[in-house]
Amino acid sequence: MEIFKTLESYDYEEIVFCQDRESGLKAIICIHDTTLGPALGGLRYWEYKNEKDAITDAFRLARGMTYKNAAAGVDVGGAKAVLLKDPKRPKSEGQIRAFGKFVEGLNGRYITAEDVGTTEQDMDWIYTETDYVVGTSTKPGTSGNPSPVTAHGIFFGLKAAVKEAFGSDNLSGRSVVVQGTGNVGLLLVEKLISEGAKVYVADLNEESVGKAVEMGAVEVGIDEVYTMDVDIYAPCALGAVINDETTTKIKARVIAGSANNQLADIKHGDVLMERGIVYAPDFIINAGGVINVVDEMHGGYDLERAMRKVENIYYQVEKVFAIAKRDNISTALAANILAEERIKAVRNTKKIFVPHKNNILKGLQ
Ligand code: NAD
Repeated sequence: MEIFKTLESYDYEEIVFCQDRESGLKAIICIHDTTLGPALGGLRYWEYKNEKDAITDAFRLARGMTYKNAAAGVDVGGAKAVLLKDPKRPKSEGQIRAFGKFVEGLNGRYITAEDVGTTEQDMDWIYTETDYVVGTSTKPGTSGNPSPVTAHGIFFGLKAAVKEAFGSDNLSGRSVVVQGTGNVGLLLVEKLISEGAKVYVADLNEESVGKAVEMGAVEVGIDEVYTMDVDIYAPCALGAVINDETTTKIKARVIAGSANNQLADIKHGDVLMERGIVYAPDFIINAGGVINVVDEMHGGYDLERAMRKVENIYYQVEKVFAIAKRDNISTALAANILAEERIKAVRNTKKIFVPHKNNILKGLQ
């Protein structure tokens, strides 16, 4: 693998290989872009087939974080770390703390957080080694469970998409099928029902479906979600649900949900566009989790403030639709452009001379 060639291809800034023989730590921190601020992105713990797959995943995820963070309007750049799982050696405090020391060594260029395979306990261990971590249980002013904030953002993003499709964001009488009634899905169901929507739900987990039914939702079959004649399809379970097979079946006019990587391929965004389906891109509408943790970086977390900030997702979704129309492209592509334009605008802000007390004034004293 030609690492510098890959770094150059998408203008990555830095890749750090972290190794500790005693604890068995093998981790990669990939910093994609810090134009907007320190690079924020979670630590993924995953068993990779080989080192190349781990590096490729770190590259891919770091770049994804740059786009997500930029489009969310927060002042952080994009990065991601992967911790290579050794099936013969369980994840340990030693490994995680060793990782924390490497994060500390980056002196704030990278801020880590929870991701697939890592927990709040892991973040607490990292916090014993560095301040550059969010989502701990021990840090004063730490943010809590992101799901309520994410669900709030999904609700506002969904309303913006409904307005685009139907001319009004009023959900009263609209029909919605929610795929996945987990942490986010169930909270979304509650909000939709309270706005007067007719809600259908599907989940493999009977207990969580039961909770949605108690709220007033109607259970449907797992595969039925794609073919239902409803106004809105809200994918809140898995990725790649919009693929070759489903794009032709979906009858909903709007797709808006929390699941990450909903499109199996960017080309499926074009198919949705051709079919006149309004798609609210996943990383724009599910940015509540990021907005939530960034709130704690500004000196003490405030749930109410975080909730208010995620309501802005409504306007971010509107901006995506405007770019899609301007450039005659799918909303999936427009979401990337929204992020790129923000980074470019910040990078190109007028350069003016700012006297700094450490250089000019020192000489004058
Ligand atoms: P969760 O694990 O609590 O819920 C997912 C639910 O999907 C589970 O109840 C599971 O049984 C169900 N499910 C799995 N396969 C299914 C299938 N084929 N059909 C129907 N249901 C199925 O996860 P969550 O925290 O609610 O997150 C949901 C999605 O949103 C995930 O893709 C996650 O990555 C994404 N997301 C979550 C957050 C957050 O703050 N929690 C933030 C951003 C993105």
